[in-house]
Amino acid sequence: MNIKNYLPHRRIPIITYHQIATTSVAEDPERMAIPPERFAAQMAYLKQQSYQTLSLDQLTQAQASAQKQVVISFDDGFADNYQQAFPILEQYGFKATIFLVTARMGKHSHWTQSQYPMLTWAQIEEMQRYGIDFQSHTENHVDLARTEKQTALKELKQSKQTIEDKLGNAVTHLAYPYGSYSEDTLALVAEAGYQHAYASSMANNQILEQSRFNLYGRDKIFSYRLQTSLWGDWLRYWRWQLG
Ligand SMILES: [Zn+2]
Repeated sequence: MNIKNYLPHRRIPIITYHQIATTSVAEDPERMAIPPERFAAQMAYLKQQSYQTLSLDQLTQAQASAQKQVVISFDDGFADNYQQAFPILEQYGFKATIFLVTARMGKHSHWTQSQYPMLTWAQIEEMQRYGIDFQSHTENHVDLARTEKQTALKELKQSKQTIEDKLGNAVTHLAYPYGSYSEDTLALVAEAGYQHAYASSMANNQILEQSRFNLYGRDKIFSYRLQTSLWGDWLRYWRWQLG
C-alpha cells in the first residue's frame, strides 16, 4: 500500500464564471453573476499570489509544478465578459477560455431568468487576437442529457464547426450546459470530435468528464475556496466511495 494513492491528487482548479455584472435577486435568482468589483478583486488576488493562468490545452498537458496554477473560464459568452472582464485580464496578462453558445452570439440569452446581451463576433475576434481561447457550450444551450440524440449531436457538431470556421482554432473542449450529461451524451461528445468536456461538480478520471470549481457571485470567500477546492473534491470522492 502506498499512502500517496490515498492522499488527494493535486488538481488544478478551473474557475467558472458566467456574467460579470451587478444583478438583483429578482433578475438573477441563482446568483450566477458576479459584480465587476468582486471579479477585479479576485483577479488581483490571483496576481498577488503569483498564480499562473493556463489555457485548457496547457491544462491537459500540465506537469507537476511548484507554481500555483489555475484555469479561468466563462460559460455562455455574455457581452459583459468583453466589457468588464477582458480589460482586467489584459491588465494582468491572464489567459482565459470562454465557452460560447454559438447560435446566440450577437443576440440575447434565452436560458436565463432575464435576457442578457451576448458577445458579438467582432468582440470575440478582438479577444482572440489577444489570446483568449474560445470553445463550445453547444449551439443553443441545450440540456444534452434530455435532448433527443440526433439534435444533441447536431448541437455539438455545429457549435464546434462554427467556432472553427470563424476563428480558425481547433475546438476540442466542451462545457456542458447546466452541467448536464448522461452516458449517451459522452458517446455523442466523442463522436462530434471533442476530447475534453467539463461538468460543474465532482469528477472522475474519465477524460470526457472533468469537473470544475464553480465560482458564482455568492462565493465571497474566494481565496479560501480556491485553496480548499482540492480537499473538497477529495472528501466528496471518499463520501462517494463509501456510499
Ligand atoms: Zn451555460
